[in-house]
Amino acid sequence: MSYNVAVDGPAGAGKSTIARAVAKREHLIYVDTGAMYRAMALHMLRSGVNLEDKAQIVARCQEADISIRYEDGVQVVCLNGENVNAYLRTEQVGDAASRTSPVPEVRKKLVELQKKLAEENDCIMDGRDIGTRVLPHAQLKIYLTASVEVRARRRYEELVGKGETCDLARIQADIEERDYRDMHREESPLMQASDAVLVDTSAMGVEEVIDRICQEIRQRGR
Ligand code: C5P
Repeated sequence: MSYNVAVDGPAGAGKSTIARAVAKREHLIYVDTGAMYRAMALHMLRSGVNLEDKAQIVARCQEADISIRYEDGVQVVCLNGENVNAYLRTEQVGDAASRTSPVPEVRKKLVELQKKLAEENDCIMDGRDIGTRVLPHAQLKIYLTASVEVRARRRYEELVGKGETCDLARIQADIEERDYRDMHREESPLMQASDAVLVDTSAMGVEEVIDRICQEIRQRGR
């Protein structure tokens, strides 16, 4: 049986940075499910779909073949055979992902792929519904969060570090809007699983969070 760690939490909580580092330390595969929803959203944007029109999303979802492979431990997301990693991390694609991810047909397709990956590999998987829906029997579940102010500040500093000009208040408003959509949707809303360990990183450094999760893994006897 494979060993699975589920990490859920709101936008900008640092899930991917933390999960990637824990994966490396603990020799697990890192599965970034947000990237799968982003690849699906990219397909919708490229197809010119009206993101408010559910029927169009359902129809276009059928023609999107999303698959994952690993190159030197890095997850490569393929959309109809094309490596789309370079196009996934924009605000536009993230926003589109949170508008298309509530559609049940989109979720069904991607959840199947996620379950299969977790069955076949020891992995740490992050997203919004991993502990509650995708891997309800994961050996360890973490709910990673931080105050909205801290999450906005971190995203702001990341963008400024990349040389982009941005507005902190705007970033915070976008994060709040995305959190609201992810937490209030009908299908698999973001919530803390009852058996998840809550880790609030508002006042924690990255290494401290990584240590904390690795400690939880060891306590569970991996
Ligand atoms: O984590 P990331 O920002 O890459 O996720 C983009 C969007 O994909 C989220 O805002 C959410 O709407 C959706 N998502 C989801 N379920 C997951 C992972 C991501 O609905 N397991």
